[in-house]
Amino acid sequence: MNRGFFVGFDDTDSPRGLCTTYLATEVLEEFRDFDIIGHPALVRLNPNIPWKTRGNGAVAIRFGKGSGRPFRVGVFGSRRVMAYPRSGVCSPDLEELLERLDRVVLANSARGERATNPAVFISLARPPERLYWNAVRELVRPAEVVRELEGSRGSRWLWRTHRGRRGIIGATAAVAWTGRRRTYEIIAYRQKSRWGTPRRVGWESVREMDRRFPTTFNNIDEPNRHIVISPHSPCPVLFGIRATSPRELPPAAAAIEPGEPAARSLLFISNQGTDDHLRRTHVCGLRPYVSAWLRGRVVAAPVSRPGGHVFFRLADRTGSVDCAAFEPTKEFRGLVRRLVPGDLVEALGGVHRRPFTVNLEKLAVVRPAIVTTVRKPRCPCCGAAMRSAGRGAGYRCRRCHARAGAEEAVRLPLARDLAGGLYEVPKCARRHLSRPLDR
Ligand code: ATP
Repeated sequence: MNRGFFVGFDDTDSPRGLCTTYLATEVLEEFRDFDIIGHPALVRLNPNIPWKTRGNGAVAIRFGKGSGRPFRVGVFGSRRVMAYPRSGVCSPDLEELLERLDRVVLANSARGERATNPAVFISLARPPERLYWNAVRELVRPAEVVRELEGSRGSRWLWRTHRGRRGIIGATAAVAWTGRRRTYEIIAYRQKSRWGTPRRVGWESVREMDRRFPTTFNNIDEPNRHIVISPHSPCPVLFGIRATSPRELPPAAAAIEPGEPAARSLLFISNQGTDDHLRRTHVCGLRPYVSAWLRGRVVAAPVSRPGGHVFFRLADRTGSVDCAAFEPTKEFRGLVRRLVPGDLVEALGGVHRRPFTVNLEKLAVVRPAIVTTVRKPRCPCCGAAMRSAGRGAGYRCRRCHARAGAEEAVRLPLARDLAGGLYEVPKCARRHLSRPLDR
């Protein structure tokens, strides 16, 4: 007895245009003979893989025979797009549906691009959840996914890949995501005639929206004068607003002055802002292109390198590694510069291959080291500060030649300009998956 079916797709766009989330709206148009079950899912995967186009996003949608109270998930032109909380029984013909899905995905993919490897996946049940966890945390090979799909007995799913097989990683991971930890994003899309032209989104309207809708996040970076909701690539997205509550999103989107009418909007459920990509590990467990959460001590003072990047060395009992705050992390670098050897910290970020560094997304100052200064003894005759008489030789007054032992110097703690706590990069430099601290 089937209660609907899932579709997943990925690797359809290129830096020159298109967008896998926009393709979701075309897939919804194609499958209008079915009901949408739940929100379409925008699933972000390992943010460190070198071959991603932008945000390593893939999409999954469930269709079926709607039951329960319908709710709005989108507006296409003047049409309201509704979804249902559950599906009744239906008997889809997966082979036929795969053909239809494949056709619409190919028609809306950057097929001429060498790095675009579209994949479609269709199934009656979610594939094993580990496909999601692997894809969000590890570097996966397409063969591993295909082996998993072929090895699962009793399941019914079909897939197709074009050019390479890489797209299958994202297409299956999106369907495998169960949405336990979730946020939402409403995306407004531009009219086709405007794709590739500059966007104008009203600064004040974004500020006001940010203030009025408290469950939205990562809207605007005021110190860096950056509107975060609006991309700068030639993709079809006009803006996207994220929130923990889906209810706030339609009015939040309506509050934006976009400077042009949106052609479509769609509300996604998402793993954005969940920190799902991070895993606690030790230095010896670091591998390129994964995300790490390390605890250790600062062992070398931070250094600034050309380009405005700041590095410090962190060590735990298994080894040591450089942690980097790059120039785009702006004021966050100021915090990193204030670290001193001995600080106990946690470094959270993606592992870069060459140079081998942990690129910081967050930094927890667990226990700042106590930094001391030495107050030299005063001369008992003239009251002047005594000078060192040489290594291990105590102190001597230059004027009266009086002597004092080394033990008479007093160590005083210095005030540190660094409080314990968790710090994050500014909004303009945040990764889609990073959980904002104010969320
Ligand atoms: P956009 O966010 O604009 O949709 P993108 O950044 O998602 O684009 P894609 O063009 O989809 O980039 O390319 C990402 C590719 O990486 C896809 O083929 C996807 O299947 C694959 N991929 C995703 N996660 C992993 C992973 N953990 N290991 C290896 N490959 C992965």
